[in-house]
Amino acid sequence: MPRLTLPDARAIDLPEGEPVGAALPPEAIAARVDGALVDLSFVPPADAKVEPVLASEPDGLHVLRHSTAHVMAQAVCDLWPGAKYAIGPAIDDGFYYDFELPSAVSEGDLQRIEARMREIVAADQPFVREDLTRIEAIERLSGQPYKREIIEQLEEGEVAAGDVVSLYRNGDWADLCLGPHVPSTGRLGVFQLTKLAGAYWRGDEARPMLRRIYGTAWASQAELDDYLHRLEEAERRDHRKLGRELDLFSSPEELGPGLWVWHPRGGLFRKELEDYVRDLHIDRGYDLVVTPHIARSVLWETSGHLDKYADNMYPPMRTETGDYYAKPMNCPFHVLVYKSQTRSYRDLPMRLSELGTIYRHERIGTLHGLLRIRGGTQDDSHIICTPDQLVEEILGVFDLTLEILGTFGFTEPVIKLSTLPGQTIVTPEMAERATQALTNALQKSGLPYELAEGEGAFYGPKVDFDFRDAIGRLWQLTTVQCDFGLPDRFEMEYVGEDNERHRPVMIHRAILGTLERFSAVLIEHYGGAFPLWLSPEHVWLAPVADRHVEYARELSTRFRAAGLRAHIDESAETVGKKVRAAQLMKAPYTLVIGDKEIAAGTFNVRDRSGTETKGVGFDELVRALREEIEARSLEQRSFGD
Ligand SMILES: [Zn+2]
Ligand SMILES: [Zn+2]
Repeated sequence: MPRLTLPDARAIDLPEGEPVGAALPPEAIAARVDGALVDLSFVPPADAKVEPVLASEPDGLHVLRHSTAHVMAQAVCDLWPGAKYAIGPAIDDGFYYDFELPSAVSEGDLQRIEARMREIVAADQPFVREDLTRIEAIERLSGQPYKREIIEQLEEGEVAAGDVVSLYRNGDWADLCLGPHVPSTGRLGVFQLTKLAGAYWRGDEARPMLRRIYGTAWASQAELDDYLHRLEEAERRDHRKLGRELDLFSSPEELGPGLWVWHPRGGLFRKELEDYVRDLHIDRGYDLVVTPHIARSVLWETSGHLDKYADNMYPPMRTETGDYYAKPMNCPFHVLVYKSQTRSYRDLPMRLSELGTIYRHERIGTLHGLLRIRGGTQDDSHIICTPDQLVEEILGVFDLTLEILGTFGFTEPVIKLSTLPGQTIVTPEMAERATQALTNALQKSGLPYELAEGEGAFYGPKVDFDFRDAIGRLWQLTTVQCDFGLPDRFEMEYVGEDNERHRPVMIHRAILGTLERFSAVLIEHYGGAFPLWLSPEHVWLAPVADRHVEYARELSTRFRAAGLRAHIDESAETVGKKVRAAQLMKAPYTLVIGDKEIAAGTFNVRDRSGTETKGVGFDELVRALREEIEARSLEQRSFGD
C-alpha cells in the first residue's frame, strides 16, 4: 500500500491500484507526484510526496489550456470530417491547434466550434490514457499523416517516454500526448476561441500551410473577462496604430519590410530619447564613437559573424575593393577603435559608446511593427577592461540600467542569466570565466535572478533585464554580455603594470536595445501619452479665429525662446474641434487663444485629463513646464500651487 505524503505533512495509505486523485481534494484537476505533473488517474507505484494541482495555479492553467486544445480539435474533427490535426500546445494565456481542413474555416466558424466544444464539455467525457507501442499508435491514428510523422520522428519527451507512446482518448477522439489532462471534459474552465492564423507545418516554409486556431482558457469567468480586457487595452495601445495616428513613423512599401522612416513628430521624440541616453553615458565615463554602416568581409570573418551569424546578415555588396556587409552588430567596429593605438592598463576601462545603426535580415514572417525590424539603432556600448575590473564594470552597467529604465517608470526587473549555447566561438574555459564574472556581479548586486541554460549569445553568456509595462506585460530590454572570445580573435592587447602584453576582456551591453523597439515599448507603455520631456510638442495652441493666429505665432516664438515647443493649429476648424484634435494627438497642454486671453495675457491651461486651470500667466506656465521637463516627470503637474 503506497504511503502518500501531502503538503500539510499528512500521510495517507492509498489502497493498492487506487489512483492518486482519491487522496486529493475534489477541486484538484491534476497532481504532482514527487514533483512530476500527472493525471488524477495516475496510480503511484510506491511511496511518494503528493500535491494537488489547482486550476488557478500556473501548472493547473497549463493543464486546463492543453486539455481545452484537445476538445477544440475534437470539435473541429466533428464539424469537418476528414480534418487532419497536427499539434496543439498550451501557450501563454491560452492554446492553439493546427489543422489541415477539407474546406475553408472563417472567423464566423469560431462560434460554431465553441458550441460543439460546449456539447463535449456537457457530455463530461473522461480523458483516458493508453500506453501503446509506436506501431500500435500509428495504426490507431491511421489517416492522420501529421501524427504519423511525429511518431516516426519521435523525440523523447514530446509524446513518448522510452518506447511507449501515450495516447489520450476522450469519447471517440484520441491524440498523441504525454499529458496530463483534467480528469474529464466537464472539468474544463471557461474558454473562448480568439483568432485564426496560418502556420507552416514544423515552421518550415517548404511544408504545407496549416490553419491555426487560437483560444484562451481560464479557471473562472472573472479571469477570462480580465484577460479580454487586457487584450483590448493592448490593442488600444498598439504602437503600429498609435504610430500612425500620432504621425510618428511609417514603413512605406518602397522602403522594404522591417525598415521605417520617422516623421517630424517621431523625430523630436527620438531626439529627446537619444539626447538623454547619450548625455547620461558621457556623465558615466563613456566615450562616444561613430562608425560606418558597412565593412569589408575580412572584418566579419575575424569576428566570427560570417561563420556563426551569416543567416541574419544581408547578402554582401560586391565591389572592386572586395565584398562589403551591412553591420548586424557594432562590436567589431569598436574593437577597431580600441586597436587604433597601443593601449596601456592606464587606458582601461575603456567604455566606447555609440547609437549604432545595425541591419539584420530577419525572416519576413517574424517582422512585427517596430518590435521586430530589419534596420535599427542600438544604444550599444563595449567596455574593454582588465579581468580584475570586470565585476565592477558589470555592476556599473546594472546601475546605469536601473537608472535609465527607472526614468521611464520601469522598475523591478526580472533578471535572467543565460549560459553559452552549443554553437559558440569561445573555449569552455573562457565561457566559464565569463559566466563566473556575471554570476559574481549579480550576487554582489543583490538583485534576484534566474538561470537559463544555453540561451546566451554565440560569443558569450549574458544577463537580460526584463521589465513590466503599465499593463503588466514583460519586455526584454537590457542585455549585458561578457566576452573573452572577441578580444582573442582580434588579438586585442594592453600593456600591463608589469610592462608585459595582456589580453583585455570585453562587455557588450545595450540598455534600451534598439531605439526603434524601445520606442514601440514606450508608446505602448504610455498609450501614446508621453511624459512632457518626450512629447513632440509641449503646448498646443488653438486660436479661436483667424484673427488670433498672429498672436499665437508670437506666443510660439516666446515659448521657443524659453526652450519650449509649441504647435499652432492653424486649421479652419472650430475651436471645439481643435481642442478635440489636441486631445487625440495626446498634446500634454492645450491653450485656447481668443480675445479674452489676448486682452488678459493669461491662459486657461487644459491638461490631458481635460482638467483646466484658469488664468495662468506666461512666466508661471513656462516655469512650471520647464520644471516638469527637467525632472523628466512621469506625472502631469497641476498649476496654481
Ligand atoms: Zn494532451
Ligand atoms: Zn557587441
